[in-house]
Amino acid sequence: MPPRVVVVGEVQNGSLAGITAELLSAARKISDQLPVVVLLADDAGKAAQTALDLGVPAVIALQHPSLRDGGAGGFDAAVFALATFLGQERPDVVFVARTDFGYNVAPRVAFRLGVPVAQDCIDLALDKPSGNVVVTRPVYGGNAMAVYRFKDKRPQIVILRPKIFEPLAPTGARVGEIRTVGIDLPDNRVRARLVETAKESRQGVRLEDAEVVVAGGRGLGGPEPFKRLQELADVLGGALGASRAACDAGWIDHSHQVGLTGKSIGPRVYITVGISGASQHMAGCSGAKAIVAINKDPDANIFKDARFGVVGDWQKVLPAFVDTVRELGRS
Ligand SMILES: Cc1cc2nc3c(=O)[nH]c(=O)nc-3n(C[C@H](O)[C@H](O)[C@H](O)COP(=O)(O)OP(=O)(O)OC[C@H]3O[C@@H](n4cnc5c(N)ncnc54)[C@H](O)[C@@H]3O)c2cc1C
Repeated sequence: MPPRVVVVGEVQNGSLAGITAELLSAARKISDQLPVVVLLADDAGKAAQTALDLGVPAVIALQHPSLRDGGAGGFDAAVFALATFLGQERPDVVFVARTDFGYNVAPRVAFRLGVPVAQDCIDLALDKPSGNVVVTRPVYGGNAMAVYRFKDKRPQIVILRPKIFEPLAPTGARVGEIRTVGIDLPDNRVRARLVETAKESRQGVRLEDAEVVVAGGRGLGGPEPFKRLQELADVLGGALGASRAACDAGWIDHSHQVGLTGKSIGPRVYITVGISGASQHMAGCSGAKAIVAINKDPDANIFKDARFGVVGDWQKVLPAFVDTVRELGRS
């Protein structure tokens, strides 16, 4: 019998977050049948319809005013709602994304249910004889991969790293149904409430969503060159990234950091300038389809992963690179 799988989708500003389609694609690795999607929201109507477009058999909308954007802020309501639902339904496997929501909610739910949870998984499989999930996740700061086997307790909660699995494409054929479940949330369950949201001032595309990312590292030598990288990113309609070394030096804000302790990205093209390619940095860009590296050290680790590499001083290489990109854009 195939495992009973539940994907915990995400709702942002009333719409279905793209990560949901990634989780569904990951779920296909252990079952041919698409799973049920659970959404936590104040009003999941629009997001639930989008989820049905992905071809899922059912969307279960757990709704409560405190579950706006999945209960962002304190997440107490989300933990209560999801733990109650999973405790009643007892599926075999639950997929959650390693987003702010999943990172906070899933381990607390696992603790409440007394079931196992695996963080930051980048691959998975089903051990058919036992029906248990086997996951792969980076360890030792991304320097090694470890394979973990769940034991028999259920549900087995798998937290998946974003930008690893190709999002499932919509089928257009709506065959599933939407079931709305009101949550009876006791007042004393919500101890932390979101009081205010401050919007990050940002121009252009979000780093996590960008098709092209141009990133700089310690090799740039200071904050000034980041302006040149921003120009290149603008020409390509992309976003600006950075290594932790550059962020720690104060050359650029930490919101641009890519890596193990930064953001996970999966652009079509990732252009790195003066970045050595430490494993902790590469952990954040393993979803990139093609890496282009500019580095003066021919032995730099980044060249092992780069599809295209230029060995040279960025001060000489970058201007010609930007000019050529502009030229191509005009032709
Ligand atoms: C627990 C932990 C978590 C971490 N998390 C992250 C993370 O999320 N993200 C992250 O990035 N790092 C992270 N790090 C740090 C990581 O180990 C590296 O120290 C960091 O990525 C190095 O940044 P860098 O490549 O910019 O600098 P360096 O490693 O110093 O590399 C600079 C590169 O620039 C090249 N260069 C120098 N001058 C020029 C020039 N003129 N032209 C062209 N190339 C030049 C050099 O050849 C070199 O390869 C983490 C470390 C730990 C221990």
